[in-house]
Amino acid sequence: MGNKQIQITKDPLDNLILLSDFLLAALAALIYFWGDDIGGYCFSPPLCSAIILVNLSRTISILPFHFKGKVGSNAILVNFAASNIIFINFLEFVIPNHQIYFEPFYFLLIVFTTYRWKPKKVLYNTLLISFALFLSYLPSKGFHSLISFTIQFLFIWLFYLFIKSMLERFRSSQAKLMESMDSLNKRTWELEMAQAETEMIYNTVADIAGTLNFKEVVEKIIRIATHLLGAKTCKVCRLLPDGLYVNIVGEGNRKTLEVYDKVKKISLTELLRDFEGNEMVTSTMAISTLRKGIILNGNRSQAIIPLIVREKFIGLIILESVEASGFPAEEKREFTILGPAASMAMDNAILLQKAEEMATVDELTGMYNFRYFREKLQSEVQRAIRYDLELTILIIDIDFFKKVNDTYGHQAGNMLLQQLSGLLRRCVRDVDILSRYGGEEFVIILPQTELEAAEVVAERIRSEVENAVFECGPEAMELKITVSIGLGCFSKEIIKTPEALIEEADTNLYTAKRTGRNKIVYNCADFNACATEESPVNYG
Ligand code: GH3
Ligand code: MG
Ligand code: MG
Repeated sequence: MGNKQIQITKDPLDNLILLSDFLLAALAALIYFWGDDIGGYCFSPPLCSAIILVNLSRTISILPFHFKGKVGSNAILVNFAASNIIFINFLEFVIPNHQIYFEPFYFLLIVFTTYRWKPKKVLYNTLLISFALFLSYLPSKGFHSLISFTIQFLFIWLFYLFIKSMLERFRSSQAKLMESMDSLNKRTWELEMAQAETEMIYNTVADIAGTLNFKEVVEKIIRIATHLLGAKTCKVCRLLPDGLYVNIVGEGNRKTLEVYDKVKKISLTELLRDFEGNEMVTSTMAISTLRKGIILNGNRSQAIIPLIVREKFIGLIILESVEASGFPAEEKREFTILGPAASMAMDNAILLQKAEEMATVDELTGMYNFRYFREKLQSEVQRAIRYDLELTILIIDIDFFKKVNDTYGHQAGNMLLQQLSGLLRRCVRDVDILSRYGGEEFVIILPQTELEAAEVVAERIRSEVENAVFECGPEAMELKITVSIGLGCFSKEIIKTPEALIEEADTNLYTAKRTGRNKIVYNCADFNACATEESPVNYG
């Protein structure tokens, strides 16, 4: 976007008119010199000299005449001719063979009035000037020379006043014109800037609206705030379900930007502590609330854009600036563009995130579901093949779980499953993938884990479960259970597909069940303590 200056451009036609003016002046000069031979009464020497003067002055642009109207305007010529014919010729008629010293001034005055004023005013003024000249002539016909001198002096003085006022008028109107052009240029520039800024914000905001990834939405909000809305820093907060706390999900400045995976929780009251009318910020009506004064980290003003979707408050964007009035009232307009779009985008991204979670996470236990397990196992097997890595899986099944359901009810069984999933989580590393295999069976993928290590994990689980007391049912009955675990160990030669690995673990689990439960069974040729397929190793 450029800063367009308004310029007065000269119409090419003007040059043509000036040329014709010059020719007219030349013609008038001819008439002036040979007027007696060819001219009639109307082509008097005064008329000719005035035309010469006007046209020449316009042609060489020494007088600022062309400020008034169009150069060569017909109205001017008509005025001029009329005043000339009426007054100058009248003067010639009433004072034949006169010798008037002020004739040139007289012509000049008429020229000025003609160019400055409208016909009626021109007539008045020309009448006045002619009358003054007439008076100046009378004394030479018999009055005292002092009176004659005084009247002539008065005429010169009138002429001087007239010229002075004309020049002042020109100057002031020229200055006014320049002033208004300057302010017009400035205003145009400001308007263009504002329009470009708004367009840019609209485009960027439209881009947010099309983003479904939560992290990307937060990143884009921070970028808009720090790059387009003049904030030094920006924080994006998401309201937690309790409505009292928010998570800071991302923060950044012009150079760095961070979107947090882990929770950065802060109380909403604490966040809005110094805000006047913080009720407004969280209400559905508020667009933005500004706070001024000293704020942390050298920032001196702060603005909050509430994120509201379907009249529900879902979070905040906090902008901070080092300037005391970093967010002037005009910027509220930009906030009103960003606010709703950011709210909508955040809400969509959250919904998508939830939908994705639901597709991969088991609702009861919060563990990954079987679908996710299958995909993950596929990629882990490929990784193990490519990088020659160890890989083991454990399938865990609760012993006699049916009895728990039958005795204490399905609800108690559910509670037990939830508590058991918590216990399993505590027994494995962050990198291990824990999923609900189905019913009361769980599966754990242990990447880069050889059989000996997996067996240690399995034993830890078995014994922890055996020793644990689960509180289930409405009366928090204390239940004890055991689990059987089947191991599947990846080997490049034999067990090299996900299906083979699951089958191996399943078969071992079945063996564990068949041979007494509360035990671990594995069956791997590589493991030195390992038994053969005919005699699986087991604990318990
Ligand atoms: P074992 O494995 O030792 O052979 O005996 P079991 O009683 O555990 O055997 P089985 O696999 O036949 O029984 C599984 C039971 O788990 C059957 C079903 O009622 C119960 N079950 C499966 N899913 C759920 C669930 O989501 N909630 C509850 N409460 N029970 C479930
Ligand atoms: Mg089962
Ligand atoms: Mg079972």
